[in-house]
Amino acid sequence: MAIRNALFVLLMPALFLAVGLALFASRPALPLSLGMALPAVPYVLGAGVIILGAWFKSPRVALMAVLVMGTHGAIAQFVPDLESAGTHGAELMVLYGAVAVLFPVNALLIATKRDRGMVSRGVLVRVLFFAVQVALLIVVWDAGEAARAWADEVLHTRLFDKEFDYWSLLPQLAIGLFAVVSLVLLARAAWTGGAIDGGLFGAVAASALALHGAGQGSLPAIMFTLALMALLAAVAQESYRLAFIDELTGLPGRRALMHDLQAMPGLYTVAMLDVDHFKKFNDTYGHDVGDQVLKMVASRMMRVTGGGRAFRYGGEEFTVLFPRKDVHAAVAHLNKLREAIAEASFRLRDDQRPKEKPVGVKAMEAAQQKTVKAKDRAIVSVTISIGAHGRKQGESSDAALKAADQALYRAKDGGRNCVAV
Ligand code: GH3
Ligand code: MG
Ligand code: MG
Repeated sequence: MAIRNALFVLLMPALFLAVGLALFASRPALPLSLGMALPAVPYVLGAGVIILGAWFKSPRVALMAVLVMGTHGAIAQFVPDLESAGTHGAELMVLYGAVAVLFPVNALLIATKRDRGMVSRGVLVRVLFFAVQVALLIVVWDAGEAARAWADEVLHTRLFDKEFDYWSLLPQLAIGLFAVVSLVLLARAAWTGGAIDGGLFGAVAASALALHGAGQGSLPAIMFTLALMALLAAVAQESYRLAFIDELTGLPGRRALMHDLQAMPGLYTVAMLDVDHFKKFNDTYGHDVGDQVLKMVASRMMRVTGGGRAFRYGGEEFTVLFPRKDVHAAVAHLNKLREAIAEASFRLRDDQRPKEKPVGVKAMEAAQQKTVKAKDRAIVSVTISIGAHGRKQGESSDAALKAADQALYRAKDGGRNCVAV
């Protein structure tokens, strides 16, 4: 699951980076009109990303878009076209070096922030830090030739071999910082599986390409556009998750189920699952432990066999959909799932055990929920009841769901921990 998540969120950034690298390698000649419009694109796109970031309450996305736009502006303004650069160029390269070194530092600060409201101390600190850098740059610039030369020397501190200076316009310090920050953000995205984390990584890596290509015609504008597109794709991916994926269990939610049902012609089996005596379980162990159990149930459901697709219908009710399967074929797989859940035990942390002796381990046992003391730790488990229904010709998806729900009632009446059709 974790690997699948990581691949899912890194797919789009990888695509944009591949496009960027391909453009770097091929340098296609652009129609003149497109070449003239390109420098404006990062501003327009960036404004859109900032608005979306604010909507989705993601200051990380909004701040990264500001950083990308600002850097694009600085490059467009201060880095002369290298082919036609005169002696004037060298002076301005101090500004370029500063921007290239400061970008990954700011990007790291932005990306590792937590998304908590658009106006917070964290956001303010980062904006102020950014403003201080701009002010410092102006001061150094105004201080005259000696200060600029000194800044240039500091910025061009060598980390690696001299060869790197010929390979890229980027100061070695910037190459090192970009490499470290990109790797940190990549690892973070793979670890969290978060779309926004993936997008932030894509934006930083594409911006590195943009700065590497500074002074080469439209290349930086194109790369900054790709960086903003990575952010845009991340917001889109995140909104998909918010709409269709249940937060607690990671299963698709009811909205996803309804979409799938409506798009499913012909034969299928739909099953409703409900945790047995869950109210009592919550009362005994608390809501948090109840949530942990729901996660455990969901993780078993993700591995349901027979091509079943699992959903969280709501609360402690789940649904499994078997496309192109009749009810008898599906029941075998549902029984396997039911047994896997009944056999799975769940170990409580010490602080999660009931404070008083459970109102009876006895009552719980009657309810088929076992509390076993093992090595001073409580182990609990739950059972589920399942109602399955094979969709009939011409039957609506609502009617099929209702029939599965009625079968579930029969399973409850039939003693629970069983499958009814
Ligand atoms: P039955 O065997 O007949 O299903 O008994 P039950 O106690 O499970 O009855 P019911 O299905 O009506 O109980 C639903 C309970 O599930 C109520 C609520 O306390 C609990 N519940 C619903 N959603 C959640 C949730 O997201 N987290 C936790 N911890 N509990 C939930
Ligand atoms: Mg219920
Ligand atoms: Mg229940």
